[in-house]
Amino acid sequence: MGDAGEHIPAPAACHPFITRTAFAAWTMHEPPVAAPAPVATAAADAPPAANASRRTLMVADPDAIVGTLTEAGIPPTEAQALAAMALARIGNAAGEIRLVIDLVESEGAAKVTRLEASRADGSGLVLTAGADGYAEQVMKAELKTTIASARGEMDATSFYSSAVAAGIPDSLIGEIAKAFAFDFDFQQEIAPGDIFEAAWEQSVNPAGDPVGPPQLIYAQMVTGTKSKALYRFLAPGDTEAGWYDGNGSSTVRALMRTPVDGARISSKFGFRTHPILGYQKLHRGTDFAAPTGTPIYASGNATVQWAAMKGANGNLTVLQHDNGWRTLYLHQSAFAPGIAPGVHVSQGQLIGYIGTTGRSTGPHLHYEVHIDGEPVDPLSIDTGTGKQLDGDAMKAFRTERDRIDLSRSQRTE
Ligand SMILES: [Zn+2]
Repeated sequence: MGDAGEHIPAPAACHPFITRTAFAAWTMHEPPVAAPAPVATAAADAPPAANASRRTLMVADPDAIVGTLTEAGIPPTEAQALAAMALARIGNAAGEIRLVIDLVESEGAAKVTRLEASRADGSGLVLTAGADGYAEQVMKAELKTTIASARGEMDATSFYSSAVAAGIPDSLIGEIAKAFAFDFDFQQEIAPGDIFEAAWEQSVNPAGDPVGPPQLIYAQMVTGTKSKALYRFLAPGDTEAGWYDGNGSSTVRALMRTPVDGARISSKFGFRTHPILGYQKLHRGTDFAAPTGTPIYASGNATVQWAAMKGANGNLTVLQHDNGWRTLYLHQSAFAPGIAPGVHVSQGQLIGYIGTTGRSTGPHLHYEVHIDGEPVDPLSIDTGTGKQLDGDAMKAFRTERDRIDLSRSQRTE
């Protein structure tokens, strides 16, 4: 085995057709940024007196409290005193502040009878006017976690547009694709009419406003040929949560389904007429067409065995995987920094970039998987099963799974 070159495939020239793919859009969308704007609304429980009013104002920053109070008609000296009391409790850190002001107006001046100032998490204070100035009452952070879910159908354009149409937050759509990375090839296996569902947690403050980003906790995909539901779970002893099916089996496999994001499969494994040599020949791998420079990822944990130019293969990387399999990545434009023989790489790590070096008719990755030294079809290999939870971990998983299923069943739409 010693020589990296001896199992290198025969010159593999391929015939890609480049198409733009809508799936690339997944990584290009940022979560929407809420634009804080001062708003004034009359609360339902406003004081009854004719000259009394309650105003709820959103202030973009602590520095803006004084100005907001004076604009509401409060004399500058009192506005400064109130702001100083509020800031002593809620601090000067940047961030939106909610003010609820009860005012009594007389002879053109407004007097504050009650002032509530709170941060996004609901923490803050209430100042109530009395005979000896203001009495202070502390408000504690009061975040609630809500679970929301949405169900949708694949349209003819992309998973991204289908998920947006279903009401799934932008920032979760890439997460869903990642959760299914081991189970579905979105290019090949997802078709219009397929059904998907997602559930996510969101922290909300007492005013009902979301605090912090949503967290995906459930994803389901139902196609014409298979159905998969995944639950997010932090297993005891793990530092990061993972995705598990309903039986507590991890989705993580020895190899990822595809080593490139957003590429189109331009040629599959098997016999075909060779586009350059012109005769029937075994195509020993799968071709992924994508623009030059598209990142290529290690499909599993491995040690780099070869990373250099090799004749018709062009720039070639060979990875020796921990389970004895090997994967080969041909025609690259460049290797990622640090990729060299003997270096250990992790699943999903950047190893190089798509190109068209060697015998190749256009930018693409020719990808091979070898088991026992023989090339096999990368798209149809059984990549094994993931880690199965057991004992206390399985018990904790069942509790979490049932909590998520219960909230999904209560969805109102
Ligand atoms: Zn090929």
